[in-house]
Amino acid sequence: MKLIKPEAHIENQDWTSLLQRLETKGRVCYKSEWRMTDDSAEPFIKFLIQRGHLSVLEHASVSVKFTVDRGVSHEIVRHRIGAYSQESTRFCNYEEDDITLIEPFFFAGGYLKWSAWERACSEAESMYQRLLDSGATAQEARSVLPNSLKTELWATYNLRVWRHFLELRAAKTAHPQMRQVAIPLLLKFKELMPVIFDGIPYDTAFPIKHYAEVIIV
Ligand SMILES: Cc1cc2nc3c(=O)[nH]c(=O)nc-3n(C[C@H](O)[C@H](O)[C@H](O)COP(=O)(O)OP(=O)(O)OC[C@H]3O[C@@H](n4cnc5c(N)ncnc54)[C@H](O)[C@@H]3O)c2cc1C
Repeated sequence: MKLIKPEAHIENQDWTSLLQRLETKGRVCYKSEWRMTDDSAEPFIKFLIQRGHLSVLEHASVSVKFTVDRGVSHEIVRHRIGAYSQESTRFCNYEEDDITLIEPFFFAGGYLKWSAWERACSEAESMYQRLLDSGATAQEARSVLPNSLKTELWATYNLRVWRHFLELRAAKTAHPQMRQVAIPLLLKFKELMPVIFDGIPYDTAFPIKHYAEVIIV
């Protein structure tokens, strides 16, 4: 078994022109295109958000690749307004390599919990191999793979959906492993597009040392 930490990769783009593209769409509502300048996008978008005129944010999308466990990925794909491409346990066969798991950070400090989790996953890995050795296909043998199995998942959402997603998923009420990736992602979005994400709250008590790495690619 290989253990890794969760990550998020943001597909890079020109963040300034993204805001300008939004401004171009929104200005038509007021026929105020003539007011566009090099610095007018941020105040205009701020004005739209304050008025709840959020549909304009749907004109721009951002793609993020999450590396998370199957439990967290299942929560991500509950968000219906987006596009997903996910590593498939039907088509990927983990026979050659060790299975890769996302380390549950909340068990790391306690020997009993950690060893119970590790034993369950190790047994699942052995039984997965045994099923394949007995002639089962990957899509059949996956029945015994653990929830902690690593999965990679591209999610593409428009900016209105990202605001909604992060509001729910970076909150105290979200699962700890979801917060682990959603909070640092929100913080990166706040850096890249402050006018869109500054107003989104998050669980500030979540320990920074457990934040997932967020990389721009
Ligand atoms: C803390 C937490 C606990 C949860 N616990 C559970 C649980 O125990 N069991 C469970 O099944 N799920 C659970 N969920 C998942 C939750 O019910 C939603 O499915 C998930 O958060 C997706 O969000 P959303 O419904 O806002 O919709 P999204 O799919 O993200 O859509 C965004 C918005 O679009 C609108 N929208 C989308 N589709 C429709 C539609 N068909 N009709 C009307 N409006 C629509 C809504 O305004 C919606 O908020 C939980 C989520 C959270 C954050």
